[in-house]
Amino acid sequence: MKSRTKVAVIGGGIAGCSTLYHLTQEGWTDVVLIERDELTSGTTWHSAAQVTNFGMNQTMVGLKSHSIALYQKLRDDPDYPVGYHHGDGGIRLANTEAQMEGYRHFASMARGMGVTYEVIDAEECARRHPLISTDNLLGGLWDGEDGDIDPAQLCQALAFHARRAGAEVYRQTAVTDLTQHSDDTWTVHTTQGDIDADIVVNACGYRVNEVGAMMGVSHPVASMEHQYFVTDDIPAIVGAGHRMPLLRCPISDYYARQEKNGLLVGFYEQDCRTWGMDGISPDFSNDLCPDDLERVMDVLEGAFARMPALAEAGIKRIVNGPITYTIDGAPLVGPIPGKRNAFCIIGLRAGLGEGGGHGWLLAQQIVHGEACHDTWVIDPRRFTGHATVELTSLKAIEDYQNEFRFHFPNEHRPAARMAKTTPLTPVLAAEGAACTVVNGWERAEFFKPAPEFRVTHGFGFDESFDLVAREVHAVQSGVGLAEINGFNRIEIAGPDRHSFLDRLTCGRLQTAAGRVGLSYLLTPQGMLKTEATIANLPASARGPERVWFGSAAAAEYHDMDWLTAHLSPHEDVQLRSLTNDQTILLLAGPQSRDVLSACARGDWSSEAFPWLSVRECCVGFVPATVMSVSFSGELAYEIHVPNAHLYAAYTALRAAGAPHGLKLFGAHAIESMRMEKGFLHWKADILTEFDPFETGLSRFVQMDKGAFVGREALAQRAQAAPKNRRVSLLIHDSTAPAHPGASLMDGTNVIGTITSGAWGHRTGKNLAYAFVQASESAIGTQMMLDLCGKMVPATVIKDAPYDPELRLPRG
Ligand SMILES: Cc1cc2nc3c(=O)[nH]c(=O)nc-3n(C[C@H](O)[C@H](O)[C@H](O)COP(=O)(O)OP(=O)(O)OC[C@H]3O[C@@H](n4cnc5c(N)ncnc54)[C@H](O)[C@@H]3O)c2cc1C
Repeated sequence: MKSRTKVAVIGGGIAGCSTLYHLTQEGWTDVVLIERDELTSGTTWHSAAQVTNFGMNQTMVGLKSHSIALYQKLRDDPDYPVGYHHGDGGIRLANTEAQMEGYRHFASMARGMGVTYEVIDAEECARRHPLISTDNLLGGLWDGEDGDIDPAQLCQALAFHARRAGAEVYRQTAVTDLTQHSDDTWTVHTTQGDIDADIVVNACGYRVNEVGAMMGVSHPVASMEHQYFVTDDIPAIVGAGHRMPLLRCPISDYYARQEKNGLLVGFYEQDCRTWGMDGISPDFSNDLCPDDLERVMDVLEGAFARMPALAEAGIKRIVNGPITYTIDGAPLVGPIPGKRNAFCIIGLRAGLGEGGGHGWLLAQQIVHGEACHDTWVIDPRRFTGHATVELTSLKAIEDYQNEFRFHFPNEHRPAARMAKTTPLTPVLAAEGAACTVVNGWERAEFFKPAPEFRVTHGFGFDESFDLVAREVHAVQSGVGLAEINGFNRIEIAGPDRHSFLDRLTCGRLQTAAGRVGLSYLLTPQGMLKTEATIANLPASARGPERVWFGSAAAAEYHDMDWLTAHLSPHEDVQLRSLTNDQTILLLAGPQSRDVLSACARGDWSSEAFPWLSVRECCVGFVPATVMSVSFSGELAYEIHVPNAHLYAAYTALRAAGAPHGLKLFGAHAIESMRMEKGFLHWKADILTEFDPFETGLSRFVQMDKGAFVGREALAQRAQAAPKNRRVSLLIHDSTAPAHPGASLMDGTNVIGTITSGAWGHRTGKNLAYAFVQASESAIGTQMMLDLCGKMVPATVIKDAPYDPELRLPRG
């Protein structure tokens, strides 16, 4: 074994082998893989190994289609060929119109990634899959590239090619501990001796938290037992003359693919089990859990009913193995939060299909800092303090029980709720709040007229439409109050705070005490990293002059990592997270100044406290920090209150607002209003795939301000004509919003992708944002939106159709 290396990848399943291979593909060849046993001794060896293009968003589709292209290349490689049945085709079944509508949306979304799905009816399903009956079937989604691969051969081939490029693989070598040094490098302690590494990668499958503990972290990953069986030959398959397509069934929760001349059928039973929660025996390697077909009888009956030939087949082999899950079903691939030079590729529940793509995107992140796709949907930092293994196990069970039932827009499932709350959570619930979950926080979406009020999950506008309209009207015509919890807030103190921030932000930094500005931070490649509200708090009894760096709730770990990584030892700057300590009460509407004046001493006139100001005060009798900023486009105040005082501040505002008819409003009303204002959401419309010019944020860039992170790359990009531009769109349809990921078409070509969509209740318009080819971005350009299979006209309009001159927030 070497004594030092650039990257030590720990774990030799598909995750580790793919990472190692792709590191060499990206040009890093001084890299090693360390495996405690033989390659593929974890989950990988017994995987059903289905490989599909299907994903819930474009990043997942993109990385899965990378897997497919890579696996085809490996299959065709004469030096180390891999058994890969590519192109058997696969059907996801549906028995509700809502599921079919979802499939049409996914087909629209995947088209933008160059992937074609077909939505087919029940008869066509049966024509393509001769074993299935059409009872209780509406149709399905067809992915012609579906198939399955030999998992052991795949991993061996990846390791073979990585070795040939210079990588080394150490088998029968268990990592026993990790030591990180003051220069952020590591010593990896193993049963065969130590190896120093600049960077370590945790790819340890279900042993993820054994290696996590060696780094002092706990990853939100839990394992579930998962069973399949393989049948004897089935005569109808032997006689079919072609391979059977794969089948995935959200009606009865099973999958089936051809294995030799029989079927391999896997089950997602309701009576499912977590695995390894109390520790894993060190001897569990190349091993399985005891099988228990009794548990899957309910699901099995559904599979028999769909494929009567299955009921006649003998069972040859049963497999029950652990499979890792995360909180939202997507894996954790990227930097480990709070750590330097440490990455993970863990929580893979469909690792054979996805692993090629995940290893690709991880290697890009390790070598270049960023990947070619925005990787937020798989970023380990998207879960923060609430993300315990216990919480993950509850979400894992829920996810397993719903394996093939995708989330509808605005569908928030019940497991592990109330993870993060404020003193107002029960108060707003009593007022009828219907809540979503934002980074674990319970946040009101809208207020229900009656406790039994429910919305129907689907892709059209739902029953909350009129309620949201009334909330928006209350804000526009009078005054409204909303709670925005979990907003990320980092206090930046110290004399060097402004010079530190100035080199991280691409525009003019607001530094005046008492003033607020909006800033954008770029990657070294000149692409958008994050967005921050910079509020300069004046010196007061509460503290010296300092900055509050405010950003999206989900950005809590992401932004803290970015700031700390860029802090030089010579800078006198202190960073402190206030995210869990403070909550925003958002007071908005033309009468908001009157309400604030009635409960907070001081002159709140536009002369004394103009737009984009910050001031400390008391609301009622409790301390608060008020900023005159507006995401709604109305005159508005963000009132930041310590959680201990939140209820008192809320009570004071409600009392002061009562004479003005103050109404509560929720996140859907805010969404509607921000779309009318041209305001963007981080990781919906602000993505690392685009620079600030493409995103329509040129006014926040000042190229001549001096050096800043990303400046050189951005200057280079500015010399070339942009390929894409973000635009506002008017959607000529009033039945459904444009859904993120949906394709915009010019005849038969995809020319753009939706990032956000909502009804603008003040303008009475169906609005959307999208990135489109620059040639299609002129105001007035017409195109067609593939809205769940329906072609709907869309027109490029100017940003901010409501109060474009920003007169209202200036008051
Ligand atoms: C029954 C079943 C069916 C499945 N079917 C499919 C499917 O059809 N399609 C699909 O895409 N996915 C499927 N999966 C999921 C897929 O198999 C997994 O997502 C994938 O194999 C996970 O790979 P991994 O590399 O993350 O983990 P693993 O394969 O578990 O690899 C981790 C490796 O790390 C090593 N390791 C652990 N600790 C240490 C240490 N301290 N030092 C050194 N090495 C260590 C282990 O020995 C192991 O080799 C299925 C899973 C199961 C259980």
